[in-house]
Amino acid sequence: MTRKKAVVDAAIARAGQDKGLLLMLTGNGKGKSSSAFGMVARTLGYGLKAGVVQFIKSRRDTGEEKFLGGQPDVQWHVVGDGFTWETQNRDADIATAQRGWAVAQGLLRDASLHLVVLDELTYLLNYGYLDAQQVCADLAARPAMQHVVVTGRAAPQCLLDIADTVSEIQDTKHAFRAGVRAQPGIDL
Ligand code: ATP
Ligand code: MG
Repeated sequence: MTRKKAVVDAAIARAGQDKGLLLMLTGNGKGKSSSAFGMVARTLGYGLKAGVVQFIKSRRDTGEEKFLGGQPDVQWHVVGDGFTWETQNRDADIATAQRGWAVAQGLLRDASLHLVVLDELTYLLNYGYLDAQQVCADLAARPAMQHVVVTGRAAPQCLLDIADTVSEIQDTKHAFRAGVRAQPGIDL
């Protein structure tokens, strides 16, 4: 334990930098968006501001929007409604995605935002609705101290390459497959 403490203390001493981070929360398991909203709560705890863009949203009555969306230090934007499987119109989906990215670009230029969450962004890149190179360039050009969390399954390689922290959440078990519907406070 003494040796372990020395190793941990040395690692902490080496990590003395501050930086605006890009975090990628991906994988098939539950916990990507809820982790991102946990970081919004942490940010607000310091009296700092956050912006959230939800790119795919089939319901408007989630706990995160009810609570965080009403906070004075949070900008909350829902810019997509379901996409493909609801609209069945690729051109309309592309237009929606591009309007949504314009909203995100506004947040990525706003240095007063300590944290920006781009929730479910990966789907728009995977479907080819947004140009991954453009998105990565806009992320790279953000204010130096701004943190960004991107969520969604199947993160494209260019995002993984520029991210500082990548967590892939594994789907070991999910109650939905045992017939349990989405539970308020847990799933929505
Ligand atoms: P959460 O918002 O709960 O953190 P998530 O962002 O990791 O979930 P999404 O793919 O965005 O996952 O799906 C959101 C909804 O789908 C939530 O209600 C979540 O519980 C549910 N869900 C997530 N992963 C799975 C899974 N592997 N099987 C079934 N349902 C899932
Ligand atoms: Mg999610």
